[in-house]
Amino acid sequence: KVLLASVCVAYIAVRWTAPSFNAESLRGARVLVTGASSGIGEQMAYHYSRFGAQIVITARREKVLQQVVEKCLSLGAQKAVYVAADMVDEAQPEKVVDFALEKLGGLDYLVLNHIGSTTFSMWDGDVEHMRWLMKPNFFSYVQMAWRALSALEQSKGAVVVVSSVSGKMANPFTAPYTSTKFALNGFFGVLRHELFMKKSNVSVSICTLGLIDTETALSKIRGVLDATAYPATEAALNIIITGATRQPELFYPWFTYVINLFKDWSPSLTEHLVRSAYKYDPESL
Ligand code: NDP
Repeated sequence: KVLLASVCVAYIAVRWTAPSFNAESLRGARVLVTGASSGIGEQMAYHYSRFGAQIVITARREKVLQQVVEKCLSLGAQKAVYVAADMVDEAQPEKVVDFALEKLGGLDYLVLNHIGSTTFSMWDGDVEHMRWLMKPNFFSYVQMAWRALSALEQSKGAVVVVSSVSGKMANPFTAPYTSTKFALNGFFGVLRHELFMKKSNVSVSICTLGLIDTETALSKIRGVLDATAYPATEAALNIIITGATRQPELFYPWFTYVINLFKDWSPSLTEHLVRSAYKYDPESL
């Protein structure tokens, strides 16, 4: 109890001392959001638009991107354009950054959010799929961040990485996805150190999300995992605020911070709790 209370107090202290968010700072801000045709990325595009930002959005489905752009403009975006790209194709990440730099004349926020499609099932040895998933979920993030760095340095900009509790701890049925998120947390954690050591003025925010109510997430866990999903629109707003206030980390919802601390303090209890949250029939595996 004492530990839990101290963790909660620490969390509240961290939140209270965080810099306050000035919505005006996003008016006219030049933003590139990936994975913006659905889910959290789409909600981020709408929030940035309401704040009057200039945005470039990307994903694969051109028709859907077109509709999102129209809505962005109706919500107040100063500029909204899309570029269709498949982040599995190794040439695309850099092309997308170049497109955004050309359309926006620079960049203030690079928001990396897209994920490739993967299964929610027990690891079956499909190394090829894991290798494939690393392209959209990890390598494209690295490529885009590196390509955008000098533009972000000019604007005192920010890289915002959408990660997951699965980037901090292992949960069943997500081996390929979890591997890519751990890789992201590792790479961008190192990058944050090195940018600081080089006295760079680019901030790196890593956002740790719990279960969010997007169609992709809910359709995967249905019938297997009974957990509360939190609203994508609120997750999106928290990610944007984290980037705008240049905080190194976001934990949303708040208790993901507690889970993250608890897993190291009591690994065996955490493992037991994680496994017991899953409904599955060992006979059918
Ligand atoms: P969605 O599946 O709703 O959105 C994924 C986006 O990525 C879509 O816009 C999709 O568009 C795009 N995408 C998929 N494949 C590719 C590809 N090969 N190249 C380019 N774009 C692609 O996901 P969520 O909104 O649920 O997740 C967003 C982020 O939040 C992810 O980083 C995820 O890991 C993280 N997260 C989500 C959680 C949740 O519970 N929802 C929990 C923890 C973290 P299109 O099909 O048009 O290409």
